[in-house]
Amino acid sequence: MTTPSLPPIAENLQRVRERMQAAARRAGRDPAHITLVAVTKTHPRAYIDAALAAGHLDFGENRPEEAYAKFVEQTTPAGSPSPRLHLIGPIQSRKAKIAYACHPALIHSIDRLKIARKLSNLAQANGRALDALLEVNISGEASKHGFAADQLRQVLPEILALPGLRIHGLMTIPPLDPNPEAARPFFAALRSLRDELALAYPQADWSHLSMGMSHDFEVAIEEGATIIRVGSAIFGPRQR
Ligand SMILES: *Cc1c(COP(=O)(O)O)cnc(C)c1O
Repeated sequence: MTTPSLPPIAENLQRVRERMQAAARRAGRDPAHITLVAVTKTHPRAYIDAALAAGHLDFGENRPEEAYAKFVEQTTPAGSPSPRLHLIGPIQSRKAKIAYACHPALIHSIDRLKIARKLSNLAQANGRALDALLEVNISGEASKHGFAADQLRQVLPEILALPGLRIHGLMTIPPLDPNPEAARPFFAALRSLRDELALAYPQADWSHLSMGMSHDFEVAIEEGATIIRVGSAIFGPRQR
């Protein structure tokens, strides 16, 4: 077996950062207010270490077991700062414990009341609270995870009252479309839903919009994204 060579991760991160800054400038926004989450799903730990060595700290994984294997079982080399793990994929109920055990900095993908309750109970039992976003199926596509907007309006009082969850905003994945402009109306819709909820529930923190991936993050930034989740533009094609 040959050792696969790493893609130019530091250069790719730099390129993505430059594109983020340009998009922020076009929108009259401060690029310092936008977090780049480097999505490492399917890639080995060596990719994470290369990004850490380039000074990058925020990483995203969409499967709790894979996140646990790469961010808890495998440790950070001495001298590197600790990575911050973002869980960005759907969490099945039976995976809630392992998701909790990953010590996520932020869970982007609370997509139903049941998992919200379950994660809150786990955190509360440990005397803690988890920072999370609510995933919205803003396009209404049947294949997509996330709350429908109306459903979210209904369950929100209960979710905001859960003692083990601290909500910080919304996340979405628009329909797959090679044209990044096709995502713009969905990003704008997520922002207006956020603005509506922030007015209705001013006691909660609504500062974050997690939206935008490799092919559409510039449009997402123009529409108000505060967190973008970028995989292939940094690490190359996925490995499964
Ligand atoms: C894989 C994934 C991403 C990153 O996708 P790229 O197109 O590789 O940038 C972003 N968000 C979620 C939820 C993902 O699962």
